[in-house]
Amino acid sequence: MSPLGKLRVAVIGAGAAGLCAARHLLSRQDIFAPPVVYELTKHIGGTWVYEERVGSYDNGLPIHSSMYRDLSTNIPKEVMSFPDFPFAKHLPSFVHHTEVRKYLEQYCDHFRLWDHIQFDTMVDAVSPIKVKNGWKGLAWDVTSSDISDGLDRRKSIKETFDAVMVCNGHFYDPYIPSIPGLDKFKGVLMHSHEYRSAEPFSRKSVVLLGAGLSGLDLAMELSSVNAKVILSHGQNRLTGPLPAGVEQACPVTRVLEDGTLEFQDGRQATADVFLFCTGYNFTFPFLDEQVGVQVKDHLVFPLYKFLMPPAYPSLFVVGICRAICPFPHFHVQSQFIISVLNGTFPLPSCEEMEKDFEMDIAARRARGVATRHILKLDSEQWAYNEHLAKLGGFQPLPPYWSNLYESNKVFRARHMLSYKTYNYTVLNEKEWMVQNLQGQQ
Ligand code: FAD
Repeated sequence: MSPLGKLRVAVIGAGAAGLCAARHLLSRQDIFAPPVVYELTKHIGGTWVYEERVGSYDNGLPIHSSMYRDLSTNIPKEVMSFPDFPFAKHLPSFVHHTEVRKYLEQYCDHFRLWDHIQFDTMVDAVSPIKVKNGWKGLAWDVTSSDISDGLDRRKSIKETFDAVMVCNGHFYDPYIPSIPGLDKFKGVLMHSHEYRSAEPFSRKSVVLLGAGLSGLDLAMELSSVNAKVILSHGQNRLTGPLPAGVEQACPVTRVLEDGTLEFQDGRQATADVFLFCTGYNFTFPFLDEQVGVQVKDHLVFPLYKFLMPPAYPSLFVVGICRAICPFPHFHVQSQFIISVLNGTFPLPSCEEMEKDFEMDIAARRARGVATRHILKLDSEQWAYNEHLAKLGGFQPLPPYWSNLYESNKVFRARHMLSYKTYNYTVLNEKEWMVQNLQGQQ
């Protein structure tokens, strides 16, 4: 607690999720002391800070962002934005990544977040402690180090908080599935995390594994430089027209002694490049083991409402759900967390929260959802958002968000090659909502 009896909250990471967390904490200064946002790089924006280098920064830490040079967004700006802060009017619906970074900087200006961010500061450890006067008898020791003079010269300090919001992102630690014989592959083996631009692949043969949004986007980029691409994936066959020079294949199952790739149906191919667009691992290296948060098969558990460990409900892991509309999702989760901490939503007991989590997971499994897909909310995200708003007693997202997001999804599937040229001209309809939401506490 602060000397004035206000709750002190630490936020780990100044990407979109951490900024959104800080914006909402600052809107309730009657309850919260100004948050401390720890950011290990020199910039806000996380994923949206394009870095031409691959590998490590000068200080030896691995590059965080997986952004590539020519990426433009795959969600129209009309619903990609935080609901209380629209993108600039003059921009098209699908914007280049530099515009998203600018947008996040403008968000920091508008909600006066800059002074609360400690740059070049890495959170090393987060541990729960029992206290007499804290929130539910619990507090958190956060150990961080100033890395501005390099990792070797780092100085650590420990501070105590009533709650911690973990917003460290989950698109930076590449996941590479285990494929027998992979070490035999003779060409270049790489993950999309290290992809920056198409030119180096001109006229090369590329086997690209994974047909998620990044896989499809990279297939298009590679096609534009006349690469010959085999898009290998385990989903249903894509039906829309594919970019020139791109063909589909089932998943690669092994690499033969001579480096040839073999696919599930027995087909074989050689390639200059084997490019993994297979997603990322969740990592929380700073989190004390006793908190019991585990990651297995791409599921982070146990987390009540995909947010907090039942036994330590003042720790919040924000933004781990996948296949969602991220910024509005962070907006809803942040408001829910505030309603938990200010008591608007009285938390159930630890046992009830554990049971809620287990029943939710069991229901998803019963519907045939594999463990690794449980966090992919997809169209269920809207019911999830609404559920949190109802529990937390705050204004839900207007149906506008789900309608436009879902129609874009259908349009994108049908017009993979051209959907980003479409302009949604619905800003006026949204303006009154934004005004309402900005005034909302
Ligand atoms: P991040 O942006 O990853 O931010 C996490 C921050 O935490 C970073 O700044 C990092 O430096 C910091 N951090 C990590 N560990 C520590 C530590 N120990 N101590 C201190 N700081 C730490 N979303 C969309 O809405 N539209 C799109 O078109 C879109 N395209 C995408 C394309 C690609 C290639 C990728 C990878 C993602 C895309 N996304 C898109 C999803 C995007 O990641 C989210 O929109 C959002 O930026 C995630 O924000 P975040 O804050 O959760 O994580």
